[in-house]
Amino acid sequence: MRYHNITKADMLNGEGLRVVLWVSGCSHHCHACQNAVTWNHEDGLVFDDAAKKEIFDELEKDWCSGITLSGGDPLFCSNREDICKLVLEIRDKFPDKTIWLYTGYTWEELLEQRKKDRNIDQILKHIDVLLDGKFVLKLASEKIHYVGSSNQCIIDVPRSLEKHKKILYIDNQKVLEGEE
Ligand code: SF4
Repeated sequence: MRYHNITKADMLNGEGLRVVLWVSGCSHHCHACQNAVTWNHEDGLVFDDAAKKEIFDELEKDWCSGITLSGGDPLFCSNREDICKLVLEIRDKFPDKTIWLYTGYTWEELLEQRKKDRNIDQILKHIDVLLDGKFVLKLASEKIHYVGSSNQCIIDVPRSLEKHKKILYIDNQKVLEGEE
């Protein structure tokens, strides 16, 4: 897996102050994507032990709420194995930190994929929040939290898996309707 950046004390890509890993590789090619530089999975730096240490050093800090995996798409096919290993290692070493993950796939697509893809299954079982779906320019809004367009959902993954239905962590439709 390759990556473009590791940002620290980030407040825009999840709750609290977070470390964000921006991986290379995305096959969704959404119109007006603001991160098209990350689409090619062969661009960027190799995600090596030094990069992992940089992330773990951040997660050690009391004020760091957790990690957000973004890109690109952390669930781009050739990223899945490394992202799965990283998620499992973070869950083991930092059980109190939250893991948020952005992807262009929808929740429903991933539920289908997890039946055949053990990496997807394990990732879903160990993350806290999934921000799903492609960016759709005509649904873009600056009012909503943490995502670019209102079709994208912020999903409480543990509760959704437990209840066998999609449960939102933050409901941006309510935000748009002025209820939150
Ligand atoms: S999924 Fe994200 S990174 Fe990929 S094209 Fe869409 S907006 Fe860009």
